[in-house]
Amino acid sequence: MDTPCIELREVTRRYRVGDVDVDALRGVSLVVRRGEFLAIMGSSGSGKSTLMAILGCLDRPTGGSYRFQGTDVARLGEPALARLRSEMLGFVFQSFNLLPRTSARDNVALPLIYARDPAPAAQRAQRAREALDLLGLGQREHNTPAQLSGGQQQRVAIARALINSPAVLLADEPTGNLDTRTSHEIMQTLARLNRERGVTVVVVTHERDIADYAQRVITMRDGAIVADERNPSAPAQAAAASPAAPAPPGAAPGDHDGDHGDDYGDDRGDGPARPSGLAFAAMVVAAAAQALLRNRTRSALTMLGVFIGVAALIAMIAVGQGANEAVRRQLESLGTNLFVVLPGATTTGGVRGGFGSASTLTVADADAIRREAAQVGAVSYLIRQSGQVQYRDRNWTTLVQAVTASYPPTTNWRVADGRPLKEDDDRSAALVAVIGETVRRQLFAADESPVGATLLVRGLPLRVVGVYAAKGQTPYGQDQDDLVMIPFRTGEGKVLGVAAPGAQGAAATAYPGLPNPFGLPPRLTGYVNQIFVQAASAAQVRAAIDEVTAILARRHHLRPADEPDFNVRNLSQIADAAQGSSRVMAALLAVVASISLLVGGIGIMNILLVSVTERTREIGLRMAIGAQRSHVLLQFLAEAVFMSVVGGVSGIVVGAVATEVIAALAKWPTIVSPAAVAGGFLFSAAVGVFFGYYPARKAARLDPIEALRYE
Ligand code: ADP
Ligand code: MG
Repeated sequence: MDTPCIELREVTRRYRVGDVDVDALRGVSLVVRRGEFLAIMGSSGSGKSTLMAILGCLDRPTGGSYRFQGTDVARLGEPALARLRSEMLGFVFQSFNLLPRTSARDNVALPLIYARDPAPAAQRAQRAREALDLLGLGQREHNTPAQLSGGQQQRVAIARALINSPAVLLADEPTGNLDTRTSHEIMQTLARLNRERGVTVVVVTHERDIADYAQRVITMRDGAIVADERNPSAPAQAAAASPAAPAPPGAAPGDHDGDHGDDYGDDRGDGPARPSGLAFAAMVVAAAAQALLRNRTRSALTMLGVFIGVAALIAMIAVGQGANEAVRRQLESLGTNLFVVLPGATTTGGVRGGFGSASTLTVADADAIRREAAQVGAVSYLIRQSGQVQYRDRNWTTLVQAVTASYPPTTNWRVADGRPLKEDDDRSAALVAVIGETVRRQLFAADESPVGATLLVRGLPLRVVGVYAAKGQTPYGQDQDDLVMIPFRTGEGKVLGVAAPGAQGAAATAYPGLPNPFGLPPRLTGYVNQIFVQAASAAQVRAAIDEVTAILARRHHLRPADEPDFNVRNLSQIADAAQGSSRVMAALLAVVASISLLVGGIGIMNILLVSVTERTREIGLRMAIGAQRSHVLLQFLAEAVFMSVVGGVSGIVVGAVATEVIAALAKWPTIVSPAAVAGGFLFSAAVGVFFGYYPARKAARLDPIEALRYE
């Protein structure tokens, strides 16, 4: 004798409501054979639904045992139970439980995605169409539940229950919401499925004429079976099918035999049976997209938070990085590891003079630093004054800077055209000059090379040997390119400085032997306006400053109490401070943008929590048709990630566009870095996972039968 399809032994189910125990089932024993058509009758509250939930493996008995096709269901873990529901059981509910705003075809195809080996989408649609055809709904596959009558909806639900060719169809008051005529149609449909396909059918009803379709009717009262009788008035064909008879030949879907139970035998607690990764991922994403499309406005508004956050993040980082880069480039143009020594106040006979009076720094000071300071890499110095330069009929007043040959390289002046100033030029006080870009623009035509031209610099003819590459403005807005550089000795002897009157001048000059071809008056020489010192390395800047300070203090005969007559300014410190502040600024902007991303994430979590509550019945239904907890978890997680990633990607696009607009309108430098784009994407995906996990877990932990009963 073959294994019964369903075998209950002394099954009890006790609910605890507050402090009271409710015994919904009090020892039910029942054997249902393959191919039977069974009706369960009984008044309301007699335990019919409780029994059906246990038969459908949606609920577990408190006591007794339940064997489904020979397998003790109590031994099965959650994934195995879900798989059993997916492959062996079909559910039909009083309230249809169709997904709203979803076509009949997609509703029917739903159980297929939870099957062990989900078919490709086209095949799923084809099977759903066939199932609808079988129930006479071939023309309505694109209609949503709202466009169908109650009877049609219930037939869609039956098609859905049949799609995985279950061995057993469980229908809990399937006609409860239908009029009499439609009720009879539905029952005829069930009887036909039982007859033609050999599906075992269990129907709950409390109407006698509905129960009359079944071959066997059991009656329940107060959680116990009080009657179990053959039905003499059952339709002839149905009655002909003996309960124990094997399914009709050719009826493949119903052809389940005993060894099916083995599939569920020992896999309690094993992992969810997941189909091949990619196909499943695609299905999960498709399902998430579908769920979100059912609530378009709400989904769009939820995405808005992440969208704004990511767009702001991208734009803010771009602006911040652009500013940072601009500051860095400007600072680099000033030179690195530099400090400058400036002349300080002089005290001559009690009269204190500030800047502009005679310099207290001399060439000899600079030479002493170069000789004595061990931490110093390069020393250069200059004198500077403004002066007029003339070329043909044009003139321009600019800064004339007489520099040592080492000055331009330490301060990052590069020659764009011609050659730089050389040591030789300085030694021989050559009449040469290298001009800045602004001066070139003021005096020369755009297509004219200044190299080789002769300029009058403060009246002295100098040959232009080079043009410096433009450096642009300093961080403080000063045009660095508006200058002419000439060799130091040329400057101090012939162009700049104070003309020294008569014999005093001869005494003051440090270079009495220099040629003086233009018969210019001798000038006060040997003094400098600035000494630029480059430390040997970034780490040595502080030590070098101390050394230089000590050397100058000694040379200027300062006593410890004296106010020094020179100032040392650490340029690298200014650079660090400027760069540091722009970095802090960029970080602040990013933090502000991240906060809005966080707010967006909380919005997603909030909406998903609402959605989980709203869709509790849907979750219960999905579990009833075979979804495992992990499927439900992934589905909600996918919805969260989908929303946050769609929001994030559109945020990236809009953020990049906004950056371009900011760059064009405000003329700010901006940099949209790939790192920021990748970061925005990953961050939004992470927000989705992080804020989606809690609602998703809440959904996955729902109890199937409680979820189905949820109002
Ligand atoms: P029927 O479907 O025959 O109308 P049910 O199986 O739904 O009856 O209910 C049987 C008994 O169990 C009833 O007394 C009902 O109040 C109780 N019951 C059903 N579900 C629950 C539950 N989730 N919690 C507490 N009591 C319940
Ligand atoms: Mg009920």
